[in-house]
Amino acid sequence: MINDKMKLLGEERSEIRELFEYGIIRKSQIGEDNVYDFSLGNPSIPCPDEVTDALTRLIESEDPTGLHGYTSAPGDSEVRRKIAEYLTCVYGAKISKDDLYMTVGAAAALTATLNALVTPGEEVIILAPYFPEYKVFIEACGGVVREVKCREKSFEPQPSDIADAINEKTAAIIVNSPNNPTGAVFTKECIASIAEVLNEAKKRYGKDIYLIADEPYRELVYDSNTVPFIPSYYEDTIVCYSYSKSLSIPGERIGYCMVSPTAKMHDEIYAAICGAGRSLGYVCAPSLLQKLIPMCLGKFSDIEIYDRNRKLLFTKLTEYGYEVVKPQGAFYLFVKSPVSDATTFSEAAKKHEILVVPSDSFGYPGYVRISYCVKTEMIEKALPSFRRLAEEFGLIKR
Ligand code: PLP
Repeated sequence: MINDKMKLLGEERSEIRELFEYGIIRKSQIGEDNVYDFSLGNPSIPCPDEVTDALTRLIESEDPTGLHGYTSAPGDSEVRRKIAEYLTCVYGAKISKDDLYMTVGAAAALTATLNALVTPGEEVIILAPYFPEYKVFIEACGGVVREVKCREKSFEPQPSDIADAINEKTAAIIVNSPNNPTGAVFTKECIASIAEVLNEAKKRYGKDIYLIADEPYRELVYDSNTVPFIPSYYEDTIVCYSYSKSLSIPGERIGYCMVSPTAKMHDEIYAAICGAGRSLGYVCAPSLLQKLIPMCLGKFSDIEIYDRNRKLLFTKLTEYGYEVVKPQGAFYLFVKSPVSDATTFSEAAKKHEILVVPSDSFGYPGYVRISYCVKTEMIEKALPSFRRLAEEFGLIKR
């Protein structure tokens, strides 16, 4: 027998991946430079020199047995201690190594946390538009997805909508800011109002409700925006962090779960994350990558190119008549489709060799997502095609 649920998941094609695969085939047909692929969130900026230097030093200097050997299940204790010291220094909250569990990226941090907190039949609130994998992660641990739609334009949630979605079965809410796919950065007022709603609901239903802060884009912010440190607003927070985007090393798979030291059931939550990690086979995140992190704390990829791409695309697409909200973070632009069916628009874009993802799988129909973590030259070359597409849909006169 095969687990049909898993088989289905394996066979199901992600819309993003499908478009990306199409791009590979198309590039082989008409040339790499003639396809404008905005499908994937794969960082185009190289990792900081410190990452390469540190990896070289590690490989050349360390005792290979120690370097490549198992660490303790939640991660090397010295590595966690140094990350905790760094977080304490940056966020002014007293973080300890015993709040941290090292993982293979944010995806594993999310699945470990969800498996730790959600019992079958309980609900997890996700804010649409959302990262499509949330549904897979929640359903795999027996949880039930409850969607709350963010407001158009700001792409922030309305606190009363969250309040309406909470019931006695609510286990947690996932908050992703800076956001994929909109680029929105939730203000501190927004976070404070979510915290207020959750605190009221906790009292009403007499149970703990957790806030899972999914933050792989934490340092990718523009125009001197800041990302509120959510544990300072809501005590029952678990931060799921990743170095994939901040250090441009998504294929290396390193991140962590951080249980807020203020969480009421801190030790039990941490133990449950360790247990979930164990049951999922996640113990001991890659040790070489763990050891890299303390050598690169406070270093980030230079996002100046993303910022340039963001401004260029926003200015030009707005000029061509597209409806776009200026993103404040991450590296995505969420553009309103000129027709209600975003797939129709995405298919039309394909005819101009532009690959953009229709928003249906993000739970928010009627938009397309543009990943601008690409070379600026590609955007410059794609602009006339974006213009022709706008003409085709009557956004500008020919
Ligand atoms: N959460 C969001 C919102 C993402 O966009 C991604 C990756 O693109 C992830 C989680 C997974 O990150 P990681 O590559 O660190 O597993």
